[in-house]
Amino acid sequence: MISALNALRRLREGNSRFVENQSCATATLRPARRAALLEGQEPFAIVLGCSDSRVPAELVFDQGLGDLFVIRVAGNIVAPSQVGSVEFAATRFGPRLVVVMGHSQCGAVMATLEEVLGRGTTQSRNLRSIVDRVRPSVETVIAGRGEDDLDAMMRDAVRANVRASTSHLRHGSELLEELVRNEGLLIVGAEYSLETGVVTFFEGVPKAGYP
Ligand SMILES: [Zn+2]
Repeated sequence: MISALNALRRLREGNSRFVENQSCATATLRPARRAALLEGQEPFAIVLGCSDSRVPAELVFDQGLGDLFVIRVAGNIVAPSQVGSVEFAATRFGPRLVVVMGHSQCGAVMATLEEVLGRGTTQSRNLRSIVDRVRPSVETVIAGRGEDDLDAMMRDAVRANVRASTSHLRHGSELLEELVRNEGLLIVGAEYSLETGVVTFFEGVPKAGYP
């Protein structure tokens, strides 16, 4: 299995191809590749991202079949089933990189922001389970700020929410803690820009991993 930093480089290169309209992963979607993967999978990274239709991990990183183990949930929150999915993939397939990827204009973060500001409320208990996980990050971001600063609050809230998820993965699982300590597992935070297509890795990347 490739190292976390090599996996990170591969994602960065793929995102650059995507941004430059040079994507090539679709060329690997051949029957022969499908057949080869019947033997098993060896995804080189785990991505926990938002369900937003505009942020499909495989496309924005220009990766093909069998390359990424992707978990998508509105607001890229971390609840027990997401921790379990990361644990499963990390132990079963051995990738050394976990990316939590939020994105600009995230609807789940926006809904939470509106609720915290008293501009809306969520009736569904199920939807509330998502908002409640995003809420602590949003509350921290809006503390002491004026409401006229909505765009800036939104930007900060998206990143704070990603940080909350990476922190939860790092400290909410003994199994993942052990992999981080002894097996070189790296858990990083990233943000995808709907406006530019660029993925910015802004959290948890060691110095050697920056381009
Ligand atoms: Zn979203």
